[in-house]
Amino acid sequence: MNSEEIKAVPDQMIFDEFFRRAKCLQYPPRKIVLFGPPGSGKGTQGSRLTNELCSCHISTGDLLRKEIREGTDLGMKAKEVMNAGGLVSDDLVLQILQRKFETPECKRGVVFDGFPRTVEQAKKLDELLANNNSKIDNVFNFHIDDEVLMDRLAGRRVHEASGRSYHVKYNLPKVEGKDDVTGEPLIQRNDDKPEAIANRLSTYHDKTKPVLDYYKDNGVLTTMDANQPIQTVWSDIASKIFNRK
Ligand code: ADP
Ligand code: AMP
Repeated sequence: MNSEEIKAVPDQMIFDEFFRRAKCLQYPPRKIVLFGPPGSGKGTQGSRLTNELCSCHISTGDLLRKEIREGTDLGMKAKEVMNAGGLVSDDLVLQILQRKFETPECKRGVVFDGFPRTVEQAKKLDELLANNNSKIDNVFNFHIDDEVLMDRLAGRRVHEASGRSYHVKYNLPKVEGKDDVTGEPLIQRNDDKPEAIANRLSTYHDKTKPVLDYYKDNGVLTTMDANQPIQTVWSDIASKIFNRK
């Protein structure tokens, strides 16, 4: 944004952003992993957490979908396996993760969402952080029943460019079918259709859930009841991160 564009921004918006950033200064930069099956609410809570901590939100799913939209080689390699509900190879995912991790916005902490999904990825994440004199502060495990997930994924609607997610019953946008921030249309993700949902859940149980054992013994893991309403899940996370209810 150049100085002329900044001058055109309404005062209230600038003040709100100033106070948001000033508030964030009281928290040290953290590395937080949101872990759980698709539809458990990681993206929803991740957006709020990122906003309150002024950190960056690394959703590997969002990054991969961006590669697909832009038609990159990496995106083309990932597309088929994503639509079928499988896992993209560790190599490709690590490439996009590292690229994002190195951007300036990630210096004030990171919320990892949907990563790691394999034990290999969890090990690589520890290496990446160790090379940056850092480590994981919290892993939140979103524990949720499969039947609840089906309902959440079937009713999910997303704003493609930002990854913001809404729900037709539980998290309505202000205007039906439109993103609250940009007013652009919401869509249903290809992999939120029934066939892909079943595959994604079995991929989670077979390949991703074992990652929990990796984190079990190092004191960073908190398991939460993600079946609860959005605000209750948020209160559980906030009480751990900000010591508040
Ligand atoms: P994930 O990022 O884990 O795949 P999302 O955050 O996109 O999951 O949430 C999946 C769907 O469920 C979205 O439509 C979202 O609006 C909705 N949702 C998220 N958390 C809750 C909750 N606690 N209760 C009800 N619906 C929720
Ligand atoms: P998500 O948006 O997190 O539900 O991810 C959508 C899809 O992207 C997944 O079903 C996978 O195909 C792929 N994906 C996202 N993150 C990863 C990851 N860490 N490892 C492998 N595949 C991933």
